[in-house]
Amino acid sequence: MTSNNPQTREWQALSNDHHLAPFSDFKQLKEKGPRIITSAKGVYLWDSEGNKILDGMAGLWCVAIGYGRDELADAASKQMRELPYYNLFFQTAHPPVLELAKAIADIAPEGMNHVFFTGSGSEGNDTMLRMVRHYWAIKGQPNKKVIISRKNGYHGSTVAGASLGGMTYMHEQGDLPIPGIVHIAQPYWFAEGGDMTPEEFGVWAANQLEEKILEVGVDNVGAFIAEPIQGAGGVIIPPETYWPRIKEILAKYDILFVADEVICGFGRTGEWFGSDFYDLKPDMMTIAKGLTSGYIPMGGLIVRDEVVAVLNEGGDFNHGFTYSGHPVAAAVALENIRILRDEKIIEHVHAETAPYLQSRLRELNDHPLVGEVRGVGLLGAIELVQDKATRKRYEGRGVGMICRTFCFDNGLIMRAVGDTMIIAPPLVITKAEIDELVAKARKCLDLTLSALQG
Ligand SMILES: *Cc1c(COP(=O)(O)O)cnc(C)c1O
Repeated sequence: MTSNNPQTREWQALSNDHHLAPFSDFKQLKEKGPRIITSAKGVYLWDSEGNKILDGMAGLWCVAIGYGRDELADAASKQMRELPYYNLFFQTAHPPVLELAKAIADIAPEGMNHVFFTGSGSEGNDTMLRMVRHYWAIKGQPNKKVIISRKNGYHGSTVAGASLGGMTYMHEQGDLPIPGIVHIAQPYWFAEGGDMTPEEFGVWAANQLEEKILEVGVDNVGAFIAEPIQGAGGVIIPPETYWPRIKEILAKYDILFVADEVICGFGRTGEWFGSDFYDLKPDMMTIAKGLTSGYIPMGGLIVRDEVVAVLNEGGDFNHGFTYSGHPVAAAVALENIRILRDEKIIEHVHAETAPYLQSRLRELNDHPLVGEVRGVGLLGAIELVQDKATRKRYEGRGVGMICRTFCFDNGLIMRAVGDTMIIAPPLVITKAEIDELVAKARKCLDLTLSALQG
């Protein structure tokens, strides 16, 4: 704890004494003390030391419309006064959840008109697992239980979410994955493509799905789940050949396809959903994050009409959460979607800021540390390497963490996934703010390179 500010020190002491932070090394956090974020506006955060920081990660990929929109606060306050809570369990409903379900059906891909609401993305994927198995049981095929997922995918942190995800460091804690979930290779050419071209590797990675279906037996496979673009895994943009080949395989076998849209949904790619961007036609889509721009927790599962028709024949679905479709969250989500729509934020990303960010980011390709710059929409990744030609990393140097720390100290939040730097700024970022982001990123790459050489 190095701060001279007594208020910061007091908050850090509270953290020390009472708080267990998610995805953190508790002991290390005690020694260093957390940075205390106190306010935010637009794409900027302020910490308790008075530093202004450009949030290149939109919080955790979620603050689509930017910080500080009073309309969302007003929607929450109004709904809290009118009906702060009621459940949806016993043949009741309330206006905000119904209006939100309709608003989501209006923007979702054609034929996806029903939504099951949850409190988070993880709960959305738990719901998916149970709904997929229930669906096949109703159809008289109860053996179709296995869900195929991908290594290094991220689907949340509940027991089912972490099992569906392919993060080995999560599996190691708590005996995961649970039975009935299997993983195939990810389409991460830069790290795993070897001597193949990206196009060859994309086909190879997609073919792993067919091999796994045949290995497990199609009569035992219920669904395949994937993020259109892996986010937490390192903003992994699949080679162009990947999704077309996956679609061919899915068309061949009778299994459900679930697109985890928790990051890609609500405009991140410059389309409403990643499934629109890649023309994926999923049977279910998990949503959260951008649904409320993170102003309040909410997630859900959007379900295709044909699947709902089967579920309608199945009697009770014995699943739900106290906060499923929470009225205050629903009112905030509705207002968030209204703003995205009325202010044409996604159209603006598509036509203006995404192309601008992508071209400006790629200027960093000339930097000696940079092995690849890739991105789609307002998602970007920068691979840090020792040797550009061979894609060789700086082994064991923690280059990503070094770079992330320089970023923090220079007023930019850029996340490190191993030695991959990633960004996902709010969708409302302007071109001038993109210039600032790229300039700061270059400065921090320079500082990182000097640190490695020093
Ligand atoms: C964040 C995330 C989740 C989990 O959402 P939570 O709200 O943290 O439970 C699931 N899937 C993807 C793709 C995510 O990025």
